[in-house]
Amino acid sequence: LFVALEGGEGTGKSTQARLLLDWLGLHELPARLTHEPGGTAPGARIRSLLLDPATGDLAPRAEALLYAADRAHHVHAVVRPALEAGEVVVTDRYVDSSLAYQGAGRTLDLDEVRRISAWATGGLVPDLTVLLDLPPETGLARALGRAAADRLESESLEFHQRVRATFRALAAADPGRYLVLDAERPAEEIAAAVRERVGALLPG
Ligand code: C5P
Repeated sequence: LFVALEGGEGTGKSTQARLLLDWLGLHELPARLTHEPGGTAPGARIRSLLLDPATGDLAPRAEALLYAADRAHHVHAVVRPALEAGEVVVTDRYVDSSLAYQGAGRTLDLDEVRRISAWATGGLVPDLTVLLDLPPETGLARALGRAAADRLESESLEFHQRVRATFRALAAADPGRYLVLDAERPAEEIAAAVRERVGALLPG
């Protein structure tokens, strides 16, 4: 079972990923928590290149290809092997983040980003994508309390509004594969909703 957590800044993806892993562990289900960008050793270097201000401005297409490279290696080295070993794989961000940030955010053509992503992943699509949805004003205020504040402030509010709108549109276009949750709800309520949906997808 392959589960992706998606959402904008400060929506609580990492918290929810951890809570889900704890629950799977409690039920002795083999599970793997991973993330993008940077879920592998080479990916961590790509992540620094992408997020370190010292890199300077990257052309949007170059940025999209670096995220795709990170993802290609992540799928090859972590996600597919774990799925083949029968583990539940929970990833903090996946293809939808590229559609939202590189596509809508950087205003690249969404279908082009979709094609690059499909090539990078060999077409691997999550069984379930949980979208943690939050107005960017709220999410940014939460996230600005943390480390990457400078980088977040360099994007406009409109950028983050496009990101949110795209996540929501992706979910609306394929409701069977998405669980959209209001990220303003208490973390434990969100976790319970995620557990219910994941539980229904688990074999047996
Ligand atoms: O999820 P995490 O906080 O680790 O992501 C780091 C940053 O990378 C995010 O703040 C987001 O702005 C950026 N990002 C991006 N495009 C992606 C994935 C992440 O711009 N596809």
